[in-house]
Amino acid sequence: MEAGVLRECQAKPSGGGRPRVPLEIDPVRRHMVGLTIWPGAVSVAKVNLRGHLVGKPVARLVTGGAGRLVDAAASLLGKAVNEQTMGVGVSVPGFYDPESRRIMSGPAVSGSGGLGPGEPGEPGVSPVSLVPIFERAGDHPVIIENDMHALGARWLLTHKASAGHDVLLINIGDGELGAAMLIGGRPHRGCASSANELGHMRYFADTERCYCGQVGCLERIFSSEYLRRIEGVGESGDETGGGGGTLMKRSAAYEVGDESLEMLYDYLANGIVNVVNFIRPHRLVLVSELTRYPDVCDLLTRSIRSRLLGELVDRVRIDLWDQPVAHQAETAGWLGLAGLYCDGWG
Ligand SMILES: [Zn+2]
Repeated sequence: MEAGVLRECQAKPSGGGRPRVPLEIDPVRRHMVGLTIWPGAVSVAKVNLRGHLVGKPVARLVTGGAGRLVDAAASLLGKAVNEQTMGVGVSVPGFYDPESRRIMSGPAVSGSGGLGPGEPGEPGVSPVSLVPIFERAGDHPVIIENDMHALGARWLLTHKASAGHDVLLINIGDGELGAAMLIGGRPHRGCASSANELGHMRYFADTERCYCGQVGCLERIFSSEYLRRIEGVGESGDETGGGGGTLMKRSAAYEVGDESLEMLYDYLANGIVNVVNFIRPHRLVLVSELTRYPDVCDLLTRSIRSRLLGELVDRVRIDLWDQPVAHQAETAGWLGLAGLYCDGWG
């Protein structure tokens, strides 16, 4: 209560003695600041200690490289923090090195253009310092994680999950796959801070070259580009489906027998099954706008279930979560909340 996390509710009569005074999380006095850095844009938002947005998020488009992005992010942060700020959650794409406080590589850091997709075959090489963020945060604790871990924090605090359970979250977009593993409620750390790079699981498939430098990455396969490639349709292909159209539009209009689309879902299911068989999570959470299209969701989940090891089929629970993009300042704010409420995040 002294820190402003809890407040007293109205006293309730008790059977005798002093009246009971229940406590609740105070939604007014304190907040977390969420900050997100993404290729070409930064944004900041405040969430109260129950996770509700306070005011409107503020976003800035930034050109001119990674240093400019970090400066813009630090400047937004400087305006957002005040004496009511409890902590700061920052989400970044790609790899982050907490020792040197630098973004190392990934889509975030390219050799030439700074925070922006690198040239094909030219993986990021110049680390970007986030020290200005820490300077602007002042005495407030700062948690910096990959955007998928921010999404993991938000999932963890908004769903009833057993503390000891392992959860695998997979974010599925067009040409963009991310994963986060929560082991007993804590993010999987590994030797470098990042998401679990499911998108770069590789197949012997003739895709476009990935920004990671390789060919055949799962996130290059599960994309509109690859769909066009296998159908031999140009960029301006027939948008109505049956040749051309984006992956999302084709998924929305899916009917059994769309072989090209089914092939892409086959690859995706296979990649997910390999990971699930390998780590045996209690729950698999698929996060995507695809959850709005029941026919493809059914195709995907059936395909996953049919290939899981028999011992796991009845043990792994598969959930669908229709959640807006991971790289959202509001979601970054949940990192701060995870630092406050959960072990292993701060
Ligand atoms: Zn790749």
